Amino acid sequence: MGHKVIYVAGLGLIGGSIALGIKRDHPDYTILGYNRSEKSRQIALERGIVDEVTDDFAHFAPRADVIILAVPIKQTIAFIEELAHLSLKENVLITDAGSTKLEIVKAAEASFANQAVRFVGSHPMAGSHKSGASAADVNLFENAYYILTPTALTTDDTIEELRADLSGLHARFITIDAAEHDRVTSQISHFPHVIAASLMEQAGDYAKEHEMTNHFAAGGFRDMTRIAESEAGMWTSILLTNKEAVLERIEDFKERLDTIADKIKAQDDDGIWQYFNHAKTIRQEMEIHKRGGVDSFYDIFVNVPDEEDVILTILELLRGTSLVNLRINEENRDDIHGILQISFKNAKDQARAQKVIEANTPYKVTIQ
Ligand code: NAD
Repeated sequence: MGHKVIYVAGLGLIGGSIALGIKRDHPDYTILGYNRSEKSRQIALERGIVDEVTDDFAHFAPRADVIILAVPIKQTIAFIEELAHLSLKENVLITDAGSTKLEIVKAAEASFANQAVRFVGSHPMAGSHKSGASAADVNLFENAYYILTPTALTTDDTIEELRADLSGLHARFITIDAAEHDRVTSQISHFPHVIAASLMEQAGDYAKEHEMTNHFAAGGFRDMTRIAESEAGMWTSILLTNKEAVLERIEDFKERLDTIADKIKAQDDDGIWQYFNHAKTIRQEMEIHKRGGVDSFYDIFVNVPDEEDVILTILELLRGTSLVNLRINEENRDDIHGILQISFKNAKDQARAQKVIEANTPYKVTIQ
């Protein structure tokens, strides 16, 4: 199909970023948007995220070839139920963006049964602490996993067509069963949020009796609790729509805490060492070392001498380029003191950085 009408309901961080990504590869598509708040509708129009907006969800639905629901999970289900009573285009492709999948997929299968509707669940696995249309970013999903969960309403052509529509997001599309998605994310995302919040609660209570807790909390504690600052509303709905898997992970974890507690009580020197060492080995082998499981960031490597302000000079040259990671690898070579590794989201920024550093400094830049 050439020209298409895409309807994005919810012009927040996720919906707005998806709309921008679609526009990047399909400038000829018409993008319609729904949003509750006047402010985000206005911003979405001004930023060219959408071509037309409405505050009435049902209004644009009959015009759409593709409908993307990018609102909170409960509202996604409510919109699915509402869509089932509207007169939609034949074979309209409907998807969502919710962080849990099984309840949404079940709602779609029940609501659209026997209708000429195609539905596939989606979970774009990227986010930020920001929200609203002003936070929408065309590069948000660059290299991120974009999970697609097929349903009884997913025909052979559905996934291929959706992937083509979303090609401008530059995401890594993966198809997996909705229940398995919810199980895996309970382990690597939902349960860690429970732990981070619990740790903060515990430390907060402890600090009432032991005031220095507040001052000494740094490094490891900060790494472990960063996600405790996530948006409470979103995480409440995630836990409530993935109840069984999260509760199962909590029970499993209690047993692990008991195991290490028993080893400490028993003064089991070797057992404790094994416990930590096993965890270290597993972490080293996991994709965790490739930022978010992504192994194809766009890196440059700059050989830098151990001199004052070298890194500041390089960063100043890169002002305006959005880099995603920075690290110094120490080298045991006589001629180089360190290698500065800088990661970018795309090849264009990578090439620009190499050019500008080589033109303005004597340092060698390589791309591996
Ligand atoms: P956001 O707050 O930036 O945007 C949410 C949008 O939903 C806004 O447009 C808001 O006006 C609208 N909305 C909220 N409640 C509504 C209601 N009751 N009725 C109608 N519209 C309503 O949030 P977001 O981060 O874009 O999240 C949207 C969806 O994407 C959620 O389902 C979330 O689970 C999912 N998601 C979020 C992230 C993340 O990290 N932010 C990552 C992946 C998926």
